[in-house]
Amino acid sequence: ATENKALITLFGATGDLAKRKLYTSLFKLYQKGYLADHFALLGTSRHEMSDEEFQELVLNSIKDIPAKDGEAEAFSKHFFYCAHDVTKPEHYVKLKDRLAELDKQFGTEGNRLFYMSMAPQFFGTIAINIKKQGLLTDNGYNRLVIEKPFGRDFDSAKKLNDELSQTFEENQIFRIDHYLGKEMVQNIQALRFGNPIIEALWNNRYIDNIQVTLSEKLGVEERAGYYDNSGALRDMVQNHIMQVVAQLAMEEPVAFTDDDVRVEKIKALRSLRVYTPSEAAANFVRGQYGAVNDQPDYRHEDGVDPESGTETFVAAKLMFDNYRWSGVPFYVRTGKKLADKFTRIDIVFKKPLIDIFANPDTADKQALKSNVLTIYVEPNSGFGLRLNAKHVGQGFTTEPVDLNFVQSDTAKKESPEPYERLFHDALEGNHTNFASWAEIAYAWKFVDVIRNLWDIEKPQFPNYTPGSMGPAAASELLARDGRKWVYDL
Ligand code: NAD
Repeated sequence: ATENKALITLFGATGDLAKRKLYTSLFKLYQKGYLADHFALLGTSRHEMSDEEFQELVLNSIKDIPAKDGEAEAFSKHFFYCAHDVTKPEHYVKLKDRLAELDKQFGTEGNRLFYMSMAPQFFGTIAINIKKQGLLTDNGYNRLVIEKPFGRDFDSAKKLNDELSQTFEENQIFRIDHYLGKEMVQNIQALRFGNPIIEALWNNRYIDNIQVTLSEKLGVEERAGYYDNSGALRDMVQNHIMQVVAQLAMEEPVAFTDDDVRVEKIKALRSLRVYTPSEAAANFVRGQYGAVNDQPDYRHEDGVDPESGTETFVAAKLMFDNYRWSGVPFYVRTGKKLADKFTRIDIVFKKPLIDIFANPDTADKQALKSNVLTIYVEPNSGFGLRLNAKHVGQGFTTEPVDLNFVQSDTAKKESPEPYERLFHDALEGNHTNFASWAEIAYAWKFVDVIRNLWDIEKPQFPNYTPGSMGPAAASELLARDGRKWVYDL
């Protein structure tokens, strides 16, 4: 591994995300040699804390990761702390001095990575102060890594982006969408552009419809306050689902570089049909979970408004108006308290135009089933391909058989967690797995129409039972087109 020389400034260093994901990811990069002698992290938040106390906090976050003797301690010595209120410009002066010292001490050669892991209302302020108070260097790189959510509609996202742009250029900004760090989401590109037999069929001549499901088993848990203000449309559809769908729909990039991939994703999102309000009403379904046994319905969860109209489920039919996809619906759905926790993508191919095996004497006039290519994203990673084969025995009937490839446990263990991968990409300056502003802008413009419609019309909630796959309307969305969800209960 090549060492990345970098000085990281982390805003929100005592937060939940930092403790659960960021320190563990950095430690794994350290164990693999991507981070070594020439890196340091300056953590900040409002709390007063000494460097030693902060190092303890870091050690505590990584304690469950198997390590060599002394490795964790040596790693923790790269961590420093500075109490800081992001809203006070004068506080940035302390940061500036500390960063200058650490740069010298660790030989980080002016490479600065600023990571914003705190409440999004501060993102703009921090970015502006980073420049104004002179935290940028001119001998190395200056990069910004920023957490979600990126705005709550197009206007607020644009405002945030304008603020960030006062300090950072687009190619210095790394917007985290952790779905893009998942092994099998990245595998979409390998599958499509590495296999002529797949790419040759990847269009409206052979594909009947595409289904994307991001299903969660848990309810809102501790994030109720945030979630009730956001809802599934903003929390999952605008970012994760749009990014997955863009990768499925995009054209082949000229080369597998971040710039080339971006161009194609933007083009794909540009051809996504933006609905009128009445089309939105017809093509989007929202849901909110009800009560079951001793578990409360969504409205009675701690931290949720008892009259909340927030959706915990969304299903939709998306259409791309371009030559490749004209007429092929992309059905997407996501929700909380569904049957199981998994993410999968089903590519449903068209049936043969003529079914020569159909038997007029049996009820099963359509003997042949659709070929389905499934990309299992999580918890298992793999591919499945459903084919029609002859049923073993006398006579001649057909039945579907499944070819399955599941990644081995060893591969699973070796596979870096999304945050580890994305941190490394940011250190390398590789944007492939980050969302560009243009992609985010198109995604918000698309989603804003739905949000505006839903904000006006009061929903009939709750409308689905925990443990199901959402409201009945989500099945009707496909039934209306003579289709079904491949994964159904
Ligand atoms: P958190 O509330 O746990 O932590 C916030 C941090 O910011 C704390 O360290 C706090 O001390 C600090 N802070 C707050 N106000 C400050 C101020 N005025 N000056 C300086 N420091 C201040 O938040 P979190 O859950 O860690 O989330 C961080 C970011 O990551 C958010 O943007 C969130 O949306 C995003 N995110 C979190 C998760 C998650 O699982 N926690 C998942 C995805 C995205």
